[in-house]
Amino acid sequence: MNINVTKAYLPPFEEYTNYLRGIWERGWLTNNGPLVQQLEAQLSAFLHGVPVQFTSNGTIAIQIAIKALKLSGEIVTTPFSYVATTTSIIWENCSPVFVDIESQTFCINAQKIEEAITEQTSAILATHVYGYPCDVEAIEQIAQKHNLKVIYDGAHAFGTEVHGRQLLTYGDLATCSFHATKLFHTIEGGCIVVNDSSLANDIWLLKSFGHIGDDYFSLGVNGKNSEFHAAMGLCNFPRVNSFIASRKKLAELYHSELVGLPIIYPMPQAKSLVYNYAYFPIIFQSETQMLKVKEALAAHSIYTRRYFFPSLNRLPYVKGQICPVSEDIASRVLCLPFYQELSEDIVRWIANVVRINFVVA
Ligand SMILES: *Cc1c(COP(=O)(O)O)cnc(C)c1O
Repeated sequence: MNINVTKAYLPPFEEYTNYLRGIWERGWLTNNGPLVQQLEAQLSAFLHGVPVQFTSNGTIAIQIAIKALKLSGEIVTTPFSYVATTTSIIWENCSPVFVDIESQTFCINAQKIEEAITEQTSAILATHVYGYPCDVEAIEQIAQKHNLKVIYDGAHAFGTEVHGRQLLTYGDLATCSFHATKLFHTIEGGCIVVNDSSLANDIWLLKSFGHIGDDYFSLGVNGKNSEFHAAMGLCNFPRVNSFIASRKKLAELYHSELVGLPIIYPMPQAKSLVYNYAYFPIIFQSETQMLKVKEALAAHSIYTRRYFFPSLNRLPYVKGQICPVSEDIASRVLCLPFYQELSEDIVRWIANVVRINFVVA
């Protein structure tokens, strides 16, 4: 049996096919259908009323966000994220300027953002890494002072709350991914969370070819999503709280089974955090030590992921900036298998394989 780093939840088959029956009856497959509207309404209620637009994935959501805010020049961003954060910036003809991460949360180091701001800077694009919040207050202050826009790549952030507020509602815009590997998924999918109604209008057009019927308003692309994807979302969404509760238990079990090993975990700095348990990353003392454990796990068909690796400032198509903290963490981090259906016995077994293959540096 293979144990992968994530496993997409599949709802009971009949639950999904009930939605399919409705799609067959209506013959309405995509283009803002009733299931898409229903999902958007549920997600918006979950985000305390902030409007949500369902998109075809989390990457197009970032690209549309950049386009909607009319960003140009330089975008200050994090090197410790999935590659889509950086490629979206470049795809939209902007230049990423990397600011190193903070050594506890692995999110962008807000203290270092100001030194990276130039005349060309138009925005800050930061990732809530593993579902832990960036320093949203400090970033907001800097953005106001320098008149910059803020986009959060919230691909990991679904369900995390800070100060009683959903993390996805911070920033001028936040994006999320509902890819099959994420905590809440719609097979492929994502969303843009945006409160400003004129910006929301622009985004709606951008993701729908820029027209409504025969009236053409703006440039656009196809960033919509279908009734079939919305149906999966409607099946999975009511279970999110129970997913988070199961993951919390498994994380606690991993922590107790790994206790005493010289590994570190991300340490959130935000007070009053309600965490979503999106991933289970551990940081080894060295890359060699990490690779040895990774190989030992793979020999038992337990598949982990170097997430995130490489540090994005090292991508072959970006200007070589140096980000020592991000490069160091990226070289030593490993995400262990983590999903709600993982059994406690398997967690104990994985932790044991980690322990017995651990060579103290
Ligand atoms: C998954 C992910 C994305 C991309 O989302 P897709 O839905 O796969 O396009 C972007 N950023 C981060 C941080 C991610 O983890």
